[in-house]
Amino acid sequence: MKNPWVLAILFLCYYNSVFSQEKIVNTTQKIKQNDMSNKTPEEWKKILNDEEYRVLIEKGTEYPHTGEYNTHFENGVYNCNGCKTPLFTSDQKFKSDCGWPSFDEAVKGAIKYVDDYSLSRYRVEIICANCNGHLGHIFDDGPTETGKRYCVNSVSLDFNKKSK
Ligand SMILES: [Zn+2]
Repeated sequence: MKNPWVLAILFLCYYNSVFSQEKIVNTTQKIKQNDMSNKTPEEWKKILNDEEYRVLIEKGTEYPHTGEYNTHFENGVYNCNGCKTPLFTSDQKFKSDCGWPSFDEAVKGAIKYVDDYSLSRYRVEIICANCNGHLGHIFDDGPTETGKRYCVNSVSLDFNKKSK
């Protein structure tokens, strides 16, 4: 005789696997530009300066309140500084006191989300979906209606002003 709990657990496993597959599909939509995810460290060093390499490739963090775009508010698009893929628009940026440029949303499909257990805590790292460059982390404490705070290093970004 089958234990109904076994059936319930099987159902939950099935439900979870369907749900997580959907999540993976949503977060791995790639923008097919010039895919640079296979670049070697030497190739990256040719196009990035030392600080950009430390953050984008070695997943470093710029010192808070020092970044070029922390208090930067102009109309335009924030591209990935590694591969120039558009990541955020200026209307997704909000004023934050956290010390890094903060956005409440991203360009659809431009970001990949990665579990990060470094520094003895769980966070979700955000990387460029095109070149895998490290951008920062995402938190659920955003003040706008999305509730999200994409906390991004300025050196991972390259602003492109909207021409009128
Ligand atoms: Zn990129």
